[in-house]
Amino acid sequence: MKTIRLAIFLGLSYAGLANAQDYQKIHKDMIVVDGHNDVIYSSVLKGKDIGKKMSSGHTDIPRLQKGGVDVQVFAVFSNDERWRTGAFKHANDQIDSLESVVRRNSSKIEIAKSTRDIERIVNEGKIVALIGVESGNMIEESIENLEALYQRGTRYLTLTWNYNLPWATAAAVEDKKPADLQKGLSEHGKKIIKKMNELGMMVDLSHASKKTFYDVMAISTKPVLASHSNAAALTPHFRNLDDDQLAALKKNGGVVGVNFYSPFLDTAYDSRVKDLYRKQFGQEPEKNKSVSFLYRKLNTENQHLANTPFERVLEHIDYLVQKAGIDHVAIGSDFDGIESPPQQLEDVSKFPVLTQALLQRGYTVEDVSKIMGLNFLRVLKANEN
Ligand SMILES: [Zn+2]
Repeated sequence: MKTIRLAIFLGLSYAGLANAQDYQKIHKDMIVVDGHNDVIYSSVLKGKDIGKKMSSGHTDIPRLQKGGVDVQVFAVFSNDERWRTGAFKHANDQIDSLESVVRRNSSKIEIAKSTRDIERIVNEGKIVALIGVESGNMIEESIENLEALYQRGTRYLTLTWNYNLPWATAAAVEDKKPADLQKGLSEHGKKIIKKMNELGMMVDLSHASKKTFYDVMAISTKPVLASHSNAAALTPHFRNLDDDQLAALKKNGGVVGVNFYSPFLDTAYDSRVKDLYRKQFGQEPEKNKSVSFLYRKLNTENQHLANTPFERVLEHIDYLVQKAGIDHVAIGSDFDGIESPPQQLEDVSKFPVLTQALLQRGYTVEDVSKIMGLNFLRVLKANEN
């Protein structure tokens, strides 16, 4: 197993597996990387023990093992402007809690700070934990805080969440404005990007406004990441990337991670949730309630029916591969940061289903290995010094 993993890691094709039907074995032999998961924020901070199999949520160590996940990026997440002060401490508290998960489960999981660590930990049969900080408010505008988070293991920073920062702007706010009023990176923002390039911390442009996206593209000396975003051409949403952005990402050598959130995959999702709500409750959904709220009111059976058909994930992958190229597509599930994963991809134990489907769709083992992990690792390595 070790030989195959290393061969794939080094970018060599493994012809012996090209025609194999045993997708389970192929999946096991790949280095599977999920570039975005919110379980620290959604469960660990609330005292839940992800060392044991849980009946709720999408992620725990037993299910990561079952899913053949070799490298899991754990997001250190902050979703609220009130964290602008105290956000750095909040980030450190979350890293503390990840470290305590790892200490309690040290035979099964270890934090990596480099691709060299990743190779070693994977070959020891353990899960690799990587840290990604979402979002940039957690450095509180300080380069020193950025460096401190790097020292603790942070290997990407998602510049913004869904609100603007003084030094970078968010798609949720900025992309609606007329072009001449849109702000991107400030001068201080440019210094932050320069420092990230120097340190070897990947710039994550999921959530960023178009202006910020292109400002980063113009100055980054390293390949960037859009850790959890889909194709806007298939599902128009401010969180997805349009064709020009995908072309820019390809030119930059970066990577886009497919997000499993139903509203980012499927334009019919909102109306499906509302229809199921009407069916279940026999009344119109309240106008001021969000689709997320309505979804949470649905019973388990209706939630399953509301979730995006699995095929839509494959369609987004096909499209991203077509526009950005096979070397620039990855996985960024967003598990535990989303309430409605696609059908058949209900939690982290289901990643083998994706490998199987991509192989059945005609992707080669080498192509699937790239999507399932190698592309992400290539970008990480290119950012290292
Ligand atoms: Zn996000």
